[in-house]
Amino acid sequence: MGKNRSWESHHKGLTHAFILEFASQDDLDYYLTEEKVHGKFSKLAKPLIEDSVVVDIVDGELFGGRAVHPRFKNENGGKGSVHEGSCHCESVRWVVRLEKAEHVLCHCLTCQKLGGGPYSCNQIITEEDLLLTEGEGNVGVYKYKGASGKNVECFFCKTCTSHVYHKQEVMPGRVIVRTLLLEGGGEMPATGEIFGEGRLGWVTELRDQIGNTS
Ligand SMILES: [Zn+2]
Ligand SMILES: [Zn+2]
Repeated sequence: MGKNRSWESHHKGLTHAFILEFASQDDLDYYLTEEKVHGKFSKLAKPLIEDSVVVDIVDGELFGGRAVHPRFKNENGGKGSVHEGSCHCESVRWVVRLEKAEHVLCHCLTCQKLGGGPYSCNQIITEEDLLLTEGEGNVGVYKYKGASGKNVECFFCKTCTSHVYHKQEVMPGRVIVRTLLLEGGGEMPATGEIFGEGRLGWVTELRDQIGNTS
């Protein structure tokens, strides 16, 4: 750890730096999520630090993959499957864990208006099963009243307007994710639908599949 002493002007206002080396990803994950001294330091130092930059590298690995958040590890050991999502301009990226990789179609008028299509493809998951990994600062919020009269928050990419997720006051601790924006979304089956009364006459996907004639 030390103070910046460079005669160049590339420090972008940052004055101090420290480097930590870890023997393994597991050690780094432990340090970030469980290690008590680090947790206490982060809490106490936060009000004193104006800005910070964290870079996590593997020495010599120029084009390696992104590290997986501990919460989304053990894909096979844990429940369900992990999927990466991204908006159209790719400035916002996220990871979700789905119990089952499938779509639930929503035919409500709001989804039709917001998405400009006959229905939206979704799943309701717990907040812990969604993690924004990139571009959080580029996520805007559009608030509106849902059919229940309660508040709904729609989180979208400010650049390209893709919907990242929705949060409803009537479902605390849960979020609605757009499953078609996930990697492999095009191959997932549609297994359920809601607001079937709003289904447009020429939309036949699920009606034929599950024999719903309403
Ligand atoms: Zn975008
Ligand atoms: Zn809807």
